[in-house]
Amino acid sequence: MATEPRPWVEPLARLEALTQQCVHCGLCLPTCPTYALLGTEMDSPRGRIYLIRALREGRIDPTEVTLNHLDRCLDCRACESACPSGVRYGAILEGARAALEPTRSRPAVTRALRHFAFRSLLSERRWLRAAGALLRLGHAFGIRRLAAFLPAALRRAALVAPIPRGDAFLDQAPALFPAVGAVRGRVGLFVGCAMDQVHGDVHRATVSLLTRAGFEVAVPRDQTCCGALQAHNGERGAARELVARNLASFEGLEAVVVNSAGCGAQLAELESLFPAHHGSGREIARAHAFSARCLDLSTFLHHRVKFALSPGVPAASGAPGLISAVYDAPCHLLHAQKEANAPLALLRRVPGIELRPLTEPDWCCGAAGIYNLTQPILADRLLDRKLDHIEASGAHLVITANPGCMIQLEAGLARRGASVQVLHLAELLDRFGLSAEPGSQR
Ligand code: SF4
Ligand code: SF4
Repeated sequence: MATEPRPWVEPLARLEALTQQCVHCGLCLPTCPTYALLGTEMDSPRGRIYLIRALREGRIDPTEVTLNHLDRCLDCRACESACPSGVRYGAILEGARAALEPTRSRPAVTRALRHFAFRSLLSERRWLRAAGALLRLGHAFGIRRLAAFLPAALRRAALVAPIPRGDAFLDQAPALFPAVGAVRGRVGLFVGCAMDQVHGDVHRATVSLLTRAGFEVAVPRDQTCCGALQAHNGERGAARELVARNLASFEGLEAVVVNSAGCGAQLAELESLFPAHHGSGREIARAHAFSARCLDLSTFLHHRVKFALSPGVPAASGAPGLISAVYDAPCHLLHAQKEANAPLALLRRVPGIELRPLTEPDWCCGAAGIYNLTQPILADRLLDRKLDHIEASGAHLVITANPGCMIQLEAGLARRGASVQVLHLAELLDRFGLSAEPGSQR
């Protein structure tokens, strides 16, 4: 009897070596947020790897139930940090989502919207400008208050719609910001897609920090989206096209500074978009070299700049007049880029800040790209858990380093009426006056 064709088997077979690294020890399970919430093996990293292997071996089909288990994954990669076998779970999940995307039966309107979002909205400045203007207009009319009157499909988007911080950045920025004082080098600034519209002030603070540290900051106008949302959602072809544009834009710069943990993880791991069977050797080598030059802002500042220590203000001293803060580590900085130390090392030097411990700082807040739109119930449960910990710390500030986390935390704190402010690390360092020592490049 003829068997049904299974077009997902061949692309999943390319993940076989990666999935075989899993020895089923289960040490990742306690670190997995979806396993903690749902308690089901198939919503754990080990269970999902098992499902992907079963799909590849033709033992199961990509039914709605199976795909649901994969969709519920945050791609937070906490499991990678816990795994003693070095399983590259993110690469497995993203590869599997791309292989399974053609099997999904989405309504035509959803397909059209996804196509528009991934192929145009996130990557073309004219659409981003229009979206930014619409967002500002929405807030001028009180979009969050009006959410209850909107159709269900739009209600969630209205409730989590971010409040822009300052004007959009790229359109007003010169191609090159000069260094303050002696020139130590020239770096590029990656501005992202939505972040450029929503968090313009974070970019301005970043430029201020870098130029005061003696760096010229180039802001290429033709740079584009990093492709993370596309890659995480099974659209790797679209992500690869964006890589080619960014490679050309940032050619010749010694480093590309990224102040979004999600974009940074994507840019630093382009090799997973260009496996050996895809692209020419030269293309792959260029992508790898570009990845090596992309650094998170905290990594760059911590390793390249020596900051002036503020005399007489020991961190966490509890002295009166200090502002209390907690640091919530973005998953894609901590678990994907493996940068745990730099943000904390910088924060401990900031005069006037009392850095308090936060319970579960390494747990996802539920933002996870568009997860808070696609999985609202789970996202809200994770957000509540995070906000409980933040409020229990008694801190006045939450510091993080990813636009998605900022939006998620701000929306949740506003819903609770909490008087805790969310700041990007760059804003805090700039606002509280951490300054580079003159001639201080390390
Ligand atoms: S990426 Fe996060 S949610 Fe997904 S399996 Fe790993 S720990 Fe769980
Ligand atoms: S992913 Fe790693 S930690 Fe989790 S079960 Fe497999 S080998 Fe063990």
